[in-house]
Amino acid sequence: MVTAPLGTLRNGLPSFDPPLPPERTDAMHRLGFGRYEKVALAFDRPFWRDAGWSHLVLFPPDPAEPALWVFDLDAFGAGPVLVCHAFHSATGHVLWSSRQAAVRWVTDMLAAAHGAPLPDPVAAVTTGWADDPYAAGAYAHVPPGATNADLDLLGSPVGGRVLFAGEHTQSARVGYADGAMTSGIREARRLLGTTAVTLGRLPDDR
Ligand SMILES: Cc1cc2nc3c(=O)[nH]c(=O)nc-3n(C[C@H](O)[C@H](O)[C@H](O)COP(=O)(O)OP(=O)(O)OC[C@H]3O[C@@H](n4cnc5c(N)ncnc54)[C@H](O)[C@@H]3O)c2cc1C
Repeated sequence: MVTAPLGTLRNGLPSFDPPLPPERTDAMHRLGFGRYEKVALAFDRPFWRDAGWSHLVLFPPDPAEPALWVFDLDAFGAGPVLVCHAFHSATGHVLWSSRQAAVRWVTDMLAAAHGAPLPDPVAAVTTGWADDPYAAGAYAHVPPGATNADLDLLGSPVGGRVLFAGEHTQSARVGYADGAMTSGIREARRLLGTTAVTLGRLPDDR
């Protein structure tokens, strides 16, 4: 069963011999595989709570760039950490510049929203899903020119015996973890020739 993400499949990983049917590779390339990255900043203390704010939506200085979501982990009891979620074109600031520059990009926007300079973060982490060859992006979507049928086609077997699962192989919950999981159940049923499978721990799984 092949469960590699759409982004890696489009990049030719893993390779198939004989190659995948052209209608399948055409569908893979009609579909989109978006970008979604994060910048997490840890601080000594949750200074933003004193200022009376928590989660935020930040609008970058470039109005062409999508807004960032800022999750206040302190609000969930997880400590003085802000996690900034960047999408689509805005992810270039995270992916293709130094970590220091990515942190500055976010902290400048946070300082503007805060109305005062920020304390220096004590730690910062950035993701790089789009540059990871085993992820090659975030998740599938249906751009103009593609349809849900393209997703469903990617969930069909090749040659009657090579099975495919993953969030991009079904149209009901594309882009979500539960879509990936149900596609795995779908393929387990196909493989076992049963109408249902039972999920749970194996008897000797401690
Ligand atoms: C930043 C971010 C936030 C998200 N937030 C949410 C959320 O809040 N809720 C939600 O439901 N979903 C969320 N998602 C989406 C969710 O994570 C995905 O839909 C889900 O993980 C897809 O599962 P998958 O098994 O299809 O692919 P993946 O989880 O990507 O698993 C694919 C696996 O294949 C491996 N692989 C790749 N290439 C090869 C190869 N050539 N050979 C062998 N192995 C390979 C990879 O290493 C990986 O382990 C988010 C995604 C991102 C990026």
